[in-house]
Amino acid sequence: MLTIKNLKAGYYNGPDILHDIDLEVKPGEIVALIGPNGAGKSTVLRSIFNQAEVRGGSIKFIDDELTNLQTHQLINLGISFVPQGRQVFSTMTVKENLEMGAFAISDQKLVKDNIETVFKRFPMLREKTGQNGANLSGGQQQILAIARALVQNPKLLLMDEPSLGLSPKAMKEIFAVIKEINKEGVSLLIVEQNARAVVEIADRTYVLEMGKVALTGGRDILDNEKIKKIYFGQ
Ligand code: ADP
Repeated sequence: MLTIKNLKAGYYNGPDILHDIDLEVKPGEIVALIGPNGAGKSTVLRSIFNQAEVRGGSIKFIDDELTNLQTHQLINLGISFVPQGRQVFSTMTVKENLEMGAFAISDQKLVKDNIETVFKRFPMLREKTGQNGANLSGGQQQILAIARALVQNPKLLLMDEPSLGLSPKAMKEIFAVIKEINKEGVSLLIVEQNARAVVEIADRTYVLEMGKVALTGGRDILDNEKIKKIYFGQ
């Protein structure tokens, strides 16, 4: 579904951050991207979503090459992005946040239907529909950020550190939501610091180090000595 080959990328005028990354998300998969801080995990997501400078290689989604596509084109192909730090519009209501998510859809009936679908999916958001984003807890804001992406009806959801700054309880809830969304047919590529939690829900995991894929594997990757050292100080 998503096939990245020999990706080289960086930021404007800066050095290469990613060096020949190969990565794949197959239909229906949850794929985790873990690794130390600064390894380039977010840059992989940003390269897919045209927020970093792709300098070589290819990023293909089904039949389309994504490099240099505009945000609305990416969304219309079926790719949505839940950015790091949620980026909920704090002075807009829950409903307005969801409407912002639908900016790339011109059919207003479809926008209404999609918002209704996420309200059914997350009744908490319907209850808080008129509240400002700022009045929601961290976990509720993360649900709103996910819902705002789901309004776009994605086939592939990119998520950057969904558990960042959440309480253990909210974190558990978010991972449960991610699993459910996947069961409903959305494929996911998730960058996470919380390696254990994400590897447990992922079908496959890539470990990034200094802009390169250092390891790939399934759930047993947590038993790898290198991973134990990086994440669990063992
Ligand atoms: P990770 O997600 O693994 O923590 P990032 O992809 O955020 O890593 O960062 C990888 C490298 O890219 C870091 O050295 C970081 O300083 C640099 N970087 C990240 N974002 C930008 C940016 N917008 N402009 C320039 N350099 C950046």
